Amino acid sequence: MKFRSTRSLIPEVPFAEAVLRCLPPDGGLYVPSSVSDMRQFILHMDEKTTYPELAAAVTPSLLQGDLNPLSSSRVAESAFDFEPELVTLDEDFSMLKLYNGPSGIFKDFGVAFFGSVLEELLKETEAAHSMIVSAARGDNGLSLTGAFRERKGITSVLIYPSGPVSGLDPKEFITNSGNTIPIQIRGNFDDCNRLITELINDRPFAERHNVTSANTINPCRLLPQAFYFLFAFVKVKKLLKGRELIFSVPSGNFGNFISGLYAWKFGMPVNGFIAAMNLNDAFGDLIRGEKFEPQQAKVTCSPAMDISFPANYERLVSFYDEAPAVMRNMVFPAAIDDEETLRTMEWAWKNYNALIDPHSAVAFAAARKLTESGSRHSHTIILATGHPAKEAEIVRRATGQLIKLPEKLLNLKRKFNPIALIDPHLDALESAISLCYK
Ligand SMILES: *Cc1c(COP(=O)(O)O)cnc(C)c1O
Repeated sequence: MKFRSTRSLIPEVPFAEAVLRCLPPDGGLYVPSSVSDMRQFILHMDEKTTYPELAAAVTPSLLQGDLNPLSSSRVAESAFDFEPELVTLDEDFSMLKLYNGPSGIFKDFGVAFFGSVLEELLKETEAAHSMIVSAARGDNGLSLTGAFRERKGITSVLIYPSGPVSGLDPKEFITNSGNTIPIQIRGNFDDCNRLITELINDRPFAERHNVTSANTINPCRLLPQAFYFLFAFVKVKKLLKGRELIFSVPSGNFGNFISGLYAWKFGMPVNGFIAAMNLNDAFGDLIRGEKFEPQQAKVTCSPAMDISFPANYERLVSFYDEAPAVMRNMVFPAAIDDEETLRTMEWAWKNYNALIDPHSAVAFAAARKLTESGSRHSHTIILATGHPAKEAEIVRRATGQLIKLPEKLLNLKRKFNPIALIDPHLDALESAISLCYK
C-alpha cells in the first residue's frame, strides 16, 4: 500500500515510510493513495468467521509489497489477544462491542496492531530501533505499554499533561529494564500533541532515534480499525434481508469514523455512516457542505468526544475533496446533548438489558433519531467504544445499576510517578529523553 500527504505536496511513499516517519514533511497527514480491493475476502466470509481469521486474511493484502507474507501473518497473529463482539439487539439495531482490550476502549485495536506491525517492519528495514512518542490521555498509556511490551527494538515515550496519572506499572519503565519512558509536562493535552509534532520535525533528533508516534496522526493506527467494521458486516450480512446497512460512530477526533470509510473503500457494502457527536458538533457543518468553524470545546458527559478541532480534520476533508456528492449521500451528522445521552442509556437498559457507556449512547441516540425520522428500511450497527464500568457513576445515574470494573481493567487505577516532570518545551523534552539513555 502506498501513502500520500493530504496536502499532496510530496511524492507517494511506501507504507513503511509513512509508519516510521508518521508525519509528511509538508505539514499534512498521511492517507492511502490507493486502497486494496478486499471484496474477495469480505464477500466470502460469513458469520462463522472469527476475528483472528479475518485479521489473518486481510492483513497480508493490506501489507502486500511492504512486508513479506510470513511477516504479515505474524503481524496478524501477534497483534490481538482480545476481540470485538457483535450483539444483535433486534431487526433495527446491533451493537459492536469494542471495549474488550486492555484499557477498555476501542483504541486498543489500533494500538495493538501498530505495535505488531512496527516490530515486523523493524526486522525488515535497516532501522534496528524505533522510538515511539505518544501523547497519553486517560487510559491509553496502559494500552500503549501493553502493545509494545517485549517488542524488540521499541522504546515508548509517553507524554502526559498536567494532572493525576495512572495505569502504568513502574516495572515497565526504562529505568527498571522495561521500554517505557513516561514524562509529564506542565501543560495540557494540546501541548503534548504540539511537542510531538515538533519532535518529529526536528529531523536530526528524529532520525538519530527513529522517532515516530502511535497517536492517531499515524496512519497505521487507523487501518486496522477498518477490520472491525468488516467483521461486523460479515456477522450481520445474512440478517439484513434487503435492509440498508448503517454504522453509527461516536466521534471526536474522527479516527474511528475515517476507518469506517476505509472499510467502505476496501469494498465493504454499506449504505451510510452516522457521524454521532455530542455538543461539540462543529464538524457537522463541513459534512453538510457548510463552512467548518471550530468552537471552544464544551464539557459533556462523553469527554473523549469533547474535541473542538478533530485531529483527523485533513483526512476527512480529503475524502470530501475526492467525492463530495458521495460523501454527502453517505454521511449523516447528528449532535446529541447530555440529557438525551442519559435518556438513551436508560432506554437501552430497559429495552435491551444493555448497559452502555455515554460515548456509545451518543451513537445509539443518533441512530434512533435518524431511523425514526426517515423512511429508511435499515439495520444500524452502533459502535460501543468504551466499557460501561469506566463510567460507572453516569451509568448509575442513568439506569440505577451499579457496575464494577472487571478484574482485567483494575490496573487502570494504579497510580505512578512519571520519570520526569518538565516544562512544555522541545529542548526540555529532548534532554529528558536523552537522560534515559545514559
Ligand atoms: C476516543 C474515543 C471516542 C472518539 O473516537 P475518535 O476516533 O476520536 O473519533 C469515542 N469513544 C470513546 C470511549 C473514546 O475513547
